[in-house]
Amino acid sequence: MQDLESYIRDIPDFPKPGILFKDITPLLADPAAYARAIAGLAAQVGRPDAVVAIESRGFLFGAPLALHWQVPLIPARKAGKLPSRTVRQVYALEYGEDSLEMHADGLSTGQRVVIVDDLLATGGTAQATAALARQLGADVQAALFLIELEGLGGRERLAPVPARSLLRARVSG
Ligand code: AMP
Repeated sequence: MQDLESYIRDIPDFPKPGILFKDITPLLADPAAYARAIAGLAAQVGRPDAVVAIESRGFLFGAPLALHWQVPLIPARKAGKLPSRTVRQVYALEYGEDSLEMHADGLSTGQRVVIVDDLLATGGTAQATAALARQLGADVQAALFLIELEGLGGRERLAPVPARSLLRARVSG
């Protein structure tokens, strides 16, 4: 998986000063590398009953995984985007708060689900998504990420849900 790292571009100070943004678009532009990433992610966990993918870059990994496993794809979206009845979870950002929603009929009791996003940083986004899935009675087996930023406590925050990632980067400074 080492070579996949070369498809991730570091963009300093985006979207604001001090953030080193991990740009996955070079990976998306190379079908062979993208396919290796999906196969690598699929190999991290057993086939779940459903994939919960987080808006928006999580869709880029969650959708091919759901097709790979032939299981339902359930989107977790920013508030106000989903048209039918929803459940909502509010979570804290560095400054302020945000919220995520899922359709109330998206998951059912006892379903074993895997959460998918492109990147794990502080874990707040994935933790809120796990809480949504649990609100609907699902059993969150694992959270899958292409990239994990180490040193921000994301993995610890998600525990006891195991975090699995293909690539790891240390956050410095
Ligand atoms: P967090 O909730 O702190 O774990 O942040 C994870 C979410 O924010 C994911 O949906 C990522 O797409 C996005 N994100 C956070 N930090 C970065 C970064 N340095 N580069 C790219 N995306 C990021």
